[in-house]
Amino acid sequence: RRAAYLAERDLPFVTGDGEPVTVMMNAGLLMDMAHLEGTGAMGVGLYRTELPFMTRPSLPDVPTQTLLYQKILEQAGGKPVVFRTLDVGSDKILPYWSNDAEDNPAMGWRSIRITLDRPAVLRSQVRALVRASAGHDLRVMFPMVADVDEFDAARRLVDAELSRAAGRGQSLPETVCVGTMLEVPALLFQFDEVLRRVDFVSLGSNDLLQFLFAADRGNPRVSGRYDTLSMPVLRLLRRVLEQCQAAETPVTVCGEMAGRPLEAMALVGLGYRALSMSAPGVGPVKQMLRSMDSQAVGAYVRRLLETPGGSPRTALRAYARDHGI
Ligand code: PEP
Ligand code: MG
Repeated sequence: RRAAYLAERDLPFVTGDGEPVTVMMNAGLLMDMAHLEGTGAMGVGLYRTELPFMTRPSLPDVPTQTLLYQKILEQAGGKPVVFRTLDVGSDKILPYWSNDAEDNPAMGWRSIRITLDRPAVLRSQVRALVRASAGHDLRVMFPMVADVDEFDAARRLVDAELSRAAGRGQSLPETVCVGTMLEVPALLFQFDEVLRRVDFVSLGSNDLLQFLFAADRGNPRVSGRYDTLSMPVLRLLRRVLEQCQAAETPVTVCGEMAGRPLEAMALVGLGYRALSMSAPGVGPVKQMLRSMDSQAVGAYVRRLLETPGGSPRTALRAYARDHGI
């Protein structure tokens, strides 16, 4: 099968009925960037910036970060890279940053909460991203946003860094896109306000679903209790997409589900046209896309949504089997 994916590497990401789908890759280490070439992914839809912070003995300074982000952009060779600001806390602990023990670290002091409480950290990261993106497109997004005010505060910080760079006569990014991750359910209920502010949305299904179902993604006893292809998930995904489409805001799904062929088929059937996944998912998802008819799957998914009862996963699996997907 590996050979088959390689043979298909240079073929475009289009469905059997000619519908283009943007397939990007998730990355977190400089060495992951080699997979861009290897998989043929169209860009990096999620660059998890925290991993380099975790492998160093202390918080990297602005020049160190700038160099790193420059190398990432260089390795991307003109393909887009969406940088996600620090998402530490929870399962990603910085050795030099003593966190108090928390009963529920996934719901604790993590991610944007830390970086808004310690703005110097976020500022240094954004400053480095602005510098590294001189002459390129800067795409940056914030993790674990639970309230529009948090997005506003983080965005203000980006704007301040851009003004600072301009004031100092530095060369600036060609374009700037600032987005949010959608991974806290509360954001769904202020989504109109979110859409008025952001340039793009990236749906992080790993966290969004663990919070939606109140089931710890890191605890194998409960992480399998919910199904990523169940009715509540499909309905949620459909609603998010409709709202993004109405606002003409691009949306990407970047959680693990995007990299699983059956889930990716359902996402494209729901109407999603941008997925970002870990590198090993790219080949299998491309193969699936090229064998699916997006119109027919779309009609089937719509019917599924209108006829509750039974497991959507079982139905979708049977559909895929019957249609040679
Ligand atoms: C997610 O939560 O779906 C996500 C992509 O972010 P991470 O897996 O890094 O938490
Ligand atoms: Mg997440």
